[in-house]
Amino acid sequence: MERIYLDYAATAPLDARVLEEMMPYLTEVYGNASSQHRFGQVAQMAIDKARERVAKAIGAKPNEIYFTSGGTESDNWAIKGIAEARKSKGRHIISTPIEHHAVLHTLDWLKSHGFEITYVPVDSVGKVKLDELEKAIRPDTILITVMAANNEVGTIQSIAEIGKIAREHGVLFHTDAVQAVGSIPINVKDMQIDLLSMSAHKFYGPKGIGALYIRNGIKVDKLVVGGAQERTMRGGTYNTAAIVGMGKAIELATENLDEYAKKISEVRNYFVNKVLNEIPEVIFNGAPFEDRLPNNANFAFKYIEGEGILMTLDMAGIAVSSGSACSSGSLQSSHVLLAMGLEEVFAHGSIRFTFGRSTTKENVDYVVEILKGAVNRLRAMSPLFNQLKGDVTDV
Ligand SMILES: *Cc1c(COP(=O)(O)O)cnc(C)c1O
Repeated sequence: MERIYLDYAATAPLDARVLEEMMPYLTEVYGNASSQHRFGQVAQMAIDKARERVAKAIGAKPNEIYFTSGGTESDNWAIKGIAEARKSKGRHIISTPIEHHAVLHTLDWLKSHGFEITYVPVDSVGKVKLDELEKAIRPDTILITVMAANNEVGTIQSIAEIGKIAREHGVLFHTDAVQAVGSIPINVKDMQIDLLSMSAHKFYGPKGIGALYIRNGIKVDKLVVGGAQERTMRGGTYNTAAIVGMGKAIELATENLDEYAKKISEVRNYFVNKVLNEIPEVIFNGAPFEDRLPNNANFAFKYIEGEGILMTLDMAGIAVSSGSACSSGSLQSSHVLLAMGLEEVFAHGSIRFTFGRSTTKENVDYVVEILKGAVNRLRAMSPLFNQLKGDVTDV
């Protein structure tokens, strides 16, 4: 059976060129990078090179890059680290209701430790309302944390504008750019970003490695304490191979961004138009193409459960996601779609399709055929479809 993976926002496969560059560091170059002898120095040199590549990809300096275990740790560190370092200045943080759980659950934790969080609403396509963001700033606001691009609907925020607002008010700005890096251009200086989270496995690097950019001069408390790694800011023996892999992966992903975006958005647009033309009663969730990650499509198939579609597609060898991967397993509606004002019944029937470098129009043709059949069959069995079609708000 043909297998088609359309869940690249959950994770991407390791690029073969990345693995090749990692291989020596998984085998013969096994020294601890913190050791002073030759075995250690060789590993340290490879880490230095990776740090330069990561910095270059986002317009930062190498000494502003700190390696972590991934996006979740970077988000935790940025937000808890700023909260702790600045709590004497204030205990108010601004964010949005559509953040990844790595951010939302960190904010919940801070709330239970005496911080106050304001969630600025988003509009119907998932864009943060900038006027409300600015109005939410208070004298005791210490941090604004807004994701660069959303993992469920792919909406890209006006990051440079948010950076400008934050800087003008003397508030620090952190962005979870895990979905954005390697997919759209990011420059921390131009966009006035103070802290930025990224994760290698979202751009064809290895899992379990990420980085936090911290602008020079900004004081952040430590999250992981231990050895003196990362200029004493993040302890733990270096995962040299993963760091090398992240460096190679980010270079590959960012050197041909325009070409990647053009190619992948063409396949995505073809898919979106085909679904909207061939399947009735469908809502295209999220922003228009120009404000959206080039590889993301998200649809609500009215009157049916997303889980049913996901299962049917899975049996046909097609991998997609309902809601976000992290919250599936529970049948809770996506917090992102609800925050955008989508009715709960429709949020339940929503599916995310995220494309990768190797996704083709032929793949799309096959997927739409299977999808059509699945939607028709599920609707034929759906009491909602039979009884309440056209009158769904009364459910
Ligand atoms: C995947 C993801 C994360 C978590 O990153 P990990 O490296 O898997 O911990 C955080 N934020 C966003 C937006 C993501 O898509």
